[in-house]
Amino acid sequence: MSENFALIEKNIADIFEKMKPYPHANLMAAIKTRTDDEIRKAYECGVRYFGENRVQELLAHYECIKSLPGAKLHMIGTLQTNKVKYIIDKVDMIESLSSLSLAKEIDKRAKKCGVTMPVLIEINIGREEQKDGILPEELPSFLNSLSEFTSVKPQGLMTIAPVMEDPRDYAPYFEEMVRLRDEVFAKHLPGEEKPLLSMGMSANFAEALSHGSDFVRIGTGIFGPRYYPTKSDNAE
Ligand SMILES: *Cc1c(COP(=O)(O)O)cnc(C)c1O
Repeated sequence: MSENFALIEKNIADIFEKMKPYPHANLMAAIKTRTDDEIRKAYECGVRYFGENRVQELLAHYECIKSLPGAKLHMIGTLQTNKVKYIIDKVDMIESLSSLSLAKEIDKRAKKCGVTMPVLIEINIGREEQKDGILPEELPSFLNSLSEFTSVKPQGLMTIAPVMEDPRDYAPYFEEMVRLRDEVFAKHLPGEEKPLLSMGMSANFAEALSHGSDFVRIGTGIFGPRYYPTKSDNAE
């Protein structure tokens, strides 16, 4: 365990070093499958944003993250409408908004709790069938429809880029995200603040940063490989 902690410390220091030329950018730890101890260690090393994919695990980590001053919790995974009610008063942002039915439910639950929920719109930038997110050409009408939901506050765009062998091949996807941010999102929803881009993971965060990402979401690059518990693990 302590060995693992030393590695987490080193990994985070290395990532912050690479982020130095981009002072506006934030490091988010993608915490799926990780323990509260690993989360606290990342916090100790300066990480302030934590992203979870699954509602049940988000709830399990909630008390831990809430106890860390200044720590923010974002939902970054597929969110079923019937689970919005469990997280609406617990997350600081939902980064995975990918349908109007989800927006409608977030709006309804936010109103019930008297909050406004910041969201990012997830874009399926690689047009991959198995992935969530709206297609780039759907963004203008999606943004128009969102204006009906007054307790949902769109703050930018999020994407999970397709897996590429050569890191240089991520550039067209990140360029397209920048274009969508500047030419579609910012024009439809002109505001005082520049819309956010959440893009870049362990395999491509350096490329995402060089394209102006505001949030890089890193899991294995901080904590090491993920081991998903299997039935036999549970039985032991
Ligand atoms: C798991 C995950 C990440 C981090 O992935 P790594 O490859 O482990 O860095 C980022 N974003 C989302 C939405 C994820 O599910």
